[in-house]
Amino acid sequence: MSYQLTEEAVDMREAAREFTEKRVYPNAEEWDAKGEVPAEIIKEAQDLGFFGMLIPEKHGGLGLSMLAYSVVIEELSAASAGFGITVSVNNSLFVQALNEFATESLQAKYLPKVAEGWIGAYCLSEAGAGTDIVSIGCTAVDKGDHYLLNGNKLWVTNAGLANLFIVFTKTDPAAGRKGISAFVVEAESEGLSLGKKENKLGIRCSDTREVILVDVKVPKENLIGVEGDGFKTAVGILNGGRIGVGAQAVGIGMAALNEAIKYSKERVQFNQPIANFQAIQFKIADMATRLEASRLLVYRAAALKDTGEKFIHREASMAKLFASQSANYIADQALQIHGGYGYIKEYPVERYFRDARITEIYEGTTEAQLMVISRDLLRD
Ligand SMILES: Cc1cc2nc3c(=O)[nH]c(=O)nc-3n(C[C@H](O)[C@H](O)[C@H](O)COP(=O)(O)OP(=O)(O)OC[C@H]3O[C@@H](n4cnc5c(N)ncnc54)[C@H](O)[C@@H]3O)c2cc1C
Repeated sequence: MSYQLTEEAVDMREAAREFTEKRVYPNAEEWDAKGEVPAEIIKEAQDLGFFGMLIPEKHGGLGLSMLAYSVVIEELSAASAGFGITVSVNNSLFVQALNEFATESLQAKYLPKVAEGWIGAYCLSEAGAGTDIVSIGCTAVDKGDHYLLNGNKLWVTNAGLANLFIVFTKTDPAAGRKGISAFVVEAESEGLSLGKKENKLGIRCSDTREVILVDVKVPKENLIGVEGDGFKTAVGILNGGRIGVGAQAVGIGMAALNEAIKYSKERVQFNQPIANFQAIQFKIADMATRLEASRLLVYRAAALKDTGEKFIHREASMAKLFASQSANYIADQALQIHGGYGYIKEYPVERYFRDARITEIYEGTTEAQLMVISRDLLRD
């Protein structure tokens, strides 16, 4: 068993660091305050290939391994978790859904467009259907040469930027999980509209909105896989998505730890840096240990996925569960180490504290991960 990162992952980490140091770290506070990432930054990141990391090279992407991809998401998220999730949803939810579950012709229809600059989003959640995805109410009715989609999707990350949406629907409402089907829907489709941008606690620069579908015509060829496969697609995709959120959490934790170490050496109380106090030293040791354990779980799940192993629900959930809880713990402790200064916007730990919170909620809550892991362990 090797604990070394691959050459590809190391090279990509360097490329991501170069980009974040110049373009993301200096601007992250402003994007957080304004609630958006400027279009020119998105374009630069696209030109560097970050939005196409998981698109196969034959379709114009970088064709990276999941491991190298996770390392990049960690770096981007350390600089700005809102920007990290913008890139992550495009790759590990949208692109991966096509890579793993769409026909070759559907991949060829859309992946080159995403490699050239189109952005994708993933519409599963609804007002009445979050953890319980089988209860979605959005419908798709077969009309011969096309499907007609109706319904409302909530909390769609990237909605305001997206050219393409993956939309989960019921094609057979009586069939439970076997009645769910997923489609690629173009943002320009007649009948598709967006709600207002959500005003969020954290990851504020990511664009989250409702997507409303009223009699939206979708060509039959845009069905992902076959009718009734949508549940399998949703669950399969979330494996990769959870590795992405785990990597995002590691990035937030890393940033919070770095700031805590820096501040503890600068802040003088009782005529000495607070880093001299064992109470602070132990906090830092504990934070760093949890961060490293999180990173190893994320890299292990990513490396397993790279071997082609399909059944990685448990590993992906463990990585997301532990990394997200750790990110919240580390951000909380980093804020504590900053004392009152941690509570105001002068220092970035306040943002890390807010940003960490979402990692325990989206792409399956902490409780949902516990359900996946325990079910897997208790199965015969
Ligand atoms: C900023 C943001 C971005 C998002 N982006 C997207 C996106 O791009 N695409 C998308 O489809 N969705 C997205 N979501 C939705 C997100 O995935 C859901 O919020 C999440 O899955 C939880 O669903 P819910 O909010 O309906 O909570 P619920 O499912 O109603 O859960 C409420 C609480 O009950 C718990 N709970 C529920 N069922 C059980 C159970 N059986 N046992 C124990 N506890 C249970 C949950 O863990 C939680 O604590 C986003 C959400 C946010 C806030």
